[in-house]
Amino acid sequence: YSHTAELKRQDAAHHLHPFTDFQDYAAHPGRIISRAEGVYIEDSDGNRILDGMSGLWCCNLGYSQPGIVEAVRKQLSELPFYNNFFQCANEPSVRLAARLASLTPDNFNHVFFTNSGSEANDTNLRLVRRYWDLLDKPNKRIILSRTNAYHGSTIAAASLGGFDFVHRQFETLPYVHHIAQPYWFKDGGELSPEEFGVRVAKDLERAIDELGEDNIAAFIAEPIQGAGGVIVPPESYWPEMRRILAERDILFISDEVICGFGRTGQLFGCQSYGTSPDLITFAKAVTNGFQPLGGVLLGDRVANVLTSGGGEFGHGFTYSGHPAACAAALATLDILEREQLVERVADDIGPYLQRRWQELADHPIVGETRGKGMVAALELVRNKHTRERLEDGGKAGAVCRQFCIESGLVMRAVGDAMIIAPPLVCSHEEIDLLIERATRALDLTASHYHL
Ligand code: PLP
Repeated sequence: YSHTAELKRQDAAHHLHPFTDFQDYAAHPGRIISRAEGVYIEDSDGNRILDGMSGLWCCNLGYSQPGIVEAVRKQLSELPFYNNFFQCANEPSVRLAARLASLTPDNFNHVFFTNSGSEANDTNLRLVRRYWDLLDKPNKRIILSRTNAYHGSTIAAASLGGFDFVHRQFETLPYVHHIAQPYWFKDGGELSPEEFGVRVAKDLERAIDELGEDNIAAFIAEPIQGAGGVIVPPESYWPEMRRILAERDILFISDEVICGFGRTGQLFGCQSYGTSPDLITFAKAVTNGFQPLGGVLLGDRVANVLTSGGGEFGHGFTYSGHPAACAAALATLDILEREQLVERVADDIGPYLQRRWQELADHPIVGETRGKGMVAALELVRNKHTRERLEDGGKAGAVCRQFCIESGLVMRAVGDAMIIAPPLVCSHEEIDLLIERATRALDLTASHYHL
């Protein structure tokens, strides 16, 4: 580990990290993660840490997947690169397109590849605009999204996102309009979760009436808001949203970058909630995070129009359908199917995680636990009965996150919500260890705040 100090010095001196306070980081450089095995990461000081976040919600199969590594290696040795422009196609991208068409709901038969979720959401805006233009409805321009959403970091994707601190950094797209999110613990007041879910859903109806159905192109949402704090909606929310969407002539984009590929116990989160999107955004877990790949799955409603005219679609990326990334995705899907991991989340490890996670609700510093499948959150509070927050202006999460790391667990903090999205391959014993370490971190946080 002799290189660690020098690596940290170079990191602080030369490397600007995403979503990071540059000045602060230069003064306090982070740990260097040097290896990973199973569901553990290891830093350059030799600390072995249980990864409760699957990297950035992407290594759903954990880090030891020689089948994916071998598929990438083989692809790189046969055809390391060729593009999909100019009447060409590389084989892995074709095979992945067909594979996705066979795995996804019956009405999804086309895919457009990108390198990331952000680019996929940019692509969605281009696809949606072309769809309405081809139908001779040029006024349909407005995109509805939700407050607190995260849809990526390009200008378009960050405009779709609902974080004010991000919007203050640039000029957002003028035709994006944000509606309410179903965050019961924060906004529910005296309403029951079910009453609240219906009330929030009606914000969609109100926005459509105010802005005019003829002016609205699409609505984008995650089944469960992830980076916004794992906002698991009340059971009444999506049925009401589904009713409104069915009555109105606007496209629905389900952003499955986090929920997709099994996390909620179905292949896609929209299937867990019975919604019927027209477009699906995916990325991250499609390659188990081992290669950058994202894309848009197009339902027949949109694809049939787009494949029937309109001339050249002036959009795409050098690496749209990169062969090594597509090879990684094919190997990932092989494992997902062979090991029946989606079913495992629905019937075994998902319910086990949720049962054990719920036990944390009894902790004095925890105001609420919530979750579904292999994703969960809890809220840190001073008073669990009144929901009064800790007096640290939303910084208690960061304090708890540090105690988690010191206890050997990666959890993420979103304000005062602590969130987890562990690999779908976790054993029961690893979930037990996760709960044990989370409990220790909660104890330390509680005593830090003299609770
Ligand atoms: N959409 C959602 C729901 C996400 O959580 C993310 C990333 O966390 C993105 C889009 C952006 O994906 P990427 O970081 O691959 O651009």
